[in-house]
Amino acid sequence: MKIIGLIGGMSWESSAVYYRLLNERVGSILGGSHSCECIMDSVDFEYIERLQHQGKWKELCHIMRDKALKLEKAGAEIILLCTNTMHVCEPEMTRDLQADFLHIAEATGEAIVSKGLNRVGLLGTRFTMEKDFYSKILTDKYGVEVIIPIAEDREIVHHCIYQELVRGEISPSSKKEFQRIIGDLQEKGAKGVVLGCTEIPMLIQQDDVEITVFDTTSLHVDAALKRALN
Ligand code: GLU
Repeated sequence: MKIIGLIGGMSWESSAVYYRLLNERVGSILGGSHSCECIMDSVDFEYIERLQHQGKWKELCHIMRDKALKLEKAGAEIILLCTNTMHVCEPEMTRDLQADFLHIAEATGEAIVSKGLNRVGLLGTRFTMEKDFYSKILTDKYGVEVIIPIAEDREIVHHCIYQELVRGEISPSSKKEFQRIIGDLQEKGAKGVVLGCTEIPMLIQQDDVEITVFDTTSLHVDAALKRALN
């Protein structure tokens, strides 16, 4: 088994899900008492969130790059950055990295293609929905058209992520709002929806909506285990 390095804490709520899924799935694949060999470096999210909202991406990318190199030095052979948003730093993070960096949008793109879909909605932080680092991969590399919610709804999703989900708060009224927003994306032609924020699967699951849900946390874990156990 290859050693998986996790850059976590963005937020710790979803990092805990990564840790649980990695161990559960290694256990069910290998049986017995098998569990995942991994190392996690977890940040203080208050500081990261502040830099994001101040637009200090250069500083953030330095931090992410250092974390990846530190995990590699500690023995990680595969690196998972446990957040969609911070993949905006992927070019800088991989520049001097020898370890395998598994891009969360690539794990997602492969899943969309394997379901035979070519038009999906994207939910995530305002940064993930509005910057092009994420949708560009889905479109250019996997030929998938990406639809994002209208500005007002993007604000609702962004607010819910930072004020509720990263703090472990699951609100029934936010769930209803997300269902409505996903319904709107469906009306605009989306055949599936990418839960492009690692906390959204805590709020929305497949049974909550009609179209196919792409849970990026789960897909990222599966892609890592495929490499780690190969
Ligand atoms: N976990 C989230 C994501 O997947 C949001 C937190 C962050 O900004 O890193 O994008």
